Amino acid sequence: MDWIKPNVFISKCLEHGHCRYDGSQITSSEIKRMEPFINYYYTCPEMDIGLPSPRQALRKILTESGEERLVFSQTGEDITEKMENYCNSKVDELIKLELDGMILKSRSPSCGIKEVKLYKSHGKTQSISNKSKGLFGEKMLKSFPDIMIEDEGRISNFNIREHFLTHIYTRASFREVKRSGAIKKLVKFHSNNKYLFMAYNQGQLKIMGKIVANHEKRPIHELMDEYEKNLSLLLNTFPQKRRNVNVLMHILGYFSNVLTMNEKAYFLDLLQQYSNNQIPVSGLMSVLRMWSIKYDMAYLLDQTIFEPYPKELITVNDSGKGRI
Ligand code: SF4
Repeated sequence: MDWIKPNVFISKCLEHGHCRYDGSQITSSEIKRMEPFINYYYTCPEMDIGLPSPRQALRKILTESGEERLVFSQTGEDITEKMENYCNSKVDELIKLELDGMILKSRSPSCGIKEVKLYKSHGKTQSISNKSKGLFGEKMLKSFPDIMIEDEGRISNFNIREHFLTHIYTRASFREVKRSGAIKKLVKFHSNNKYLFMAYNQGQLKIMGKIVANHEKRPIHELMDEYEKNLSLLLNTFPQKRRNVNVLMHILGYFSNVLTMNEKAYFLDLLQQYSNNQIPVSGLMSVLRMWSIKYDMAYLLDQTIFEPYPKELITVNDSGKGRI
């Protein structure tokens, strides 16, 4: 399959630079594994505003007036405005990159997207919560609501990583369709993604089907824009077990006349095991894909649900950390 490489922004300290406060960088086997398959763009916001590495650590504090500020942990010098100005200017630059996703450093007072510690003041003191966000991370979440933004800790969770990869590859592939301006390509994209989208959100799938049908004969650029908006809504949901079971049963229907009773019974037994959390959905998909090959079901073989991203990126490693 010809994959379109997704564009992903990452925090530079994730495998791409010794830019942390202590001069170190973070190792991440997931980021490394993805590197040949993704266009990474990276930078370090703290070094971009002129800080050296190594440097004094930063932290978020909650002032008496209830404001969150970014300060140096030891001296208390406040660099909130400096970082906010940088974030504002960076957004325009990042928009031009047509990003499909971001992976930011977890829990950083600059890059963190969740679980960032909040303190009462600088100096030696305990944190008062771990529910804050980093200044840069928060700005990215607000400025890019349609793309998936995760941290390196969360993508070590199998389900989150699978969702992330599906999301960025689907967006990258649609970008090419949009660029082509060809209705034929839009129709094909929608058709090939039918079962993947059904697993995400059946209601959205129907809305997108109507857009593609274009009974109102609207111009192609309007269709593409509206389709993209709805694609983002769809990808911002998450495939659930009952929806996956529905999709698996739909696909099984294609083989109702060719399978033996024993083959059907075997598949239904696997389905039960999947419902009981005993096997992953990929086990059932493999069986359906094999039957698609055996019975030469061209329409099914084109379905992205069987391989939503390059198989080289499939790994069952799961840290168990994080929740969808
Ligand atoms: S977390 Fe962000 S600001 Fe901190 S070192 Fe990494 S890239 Fe730089």
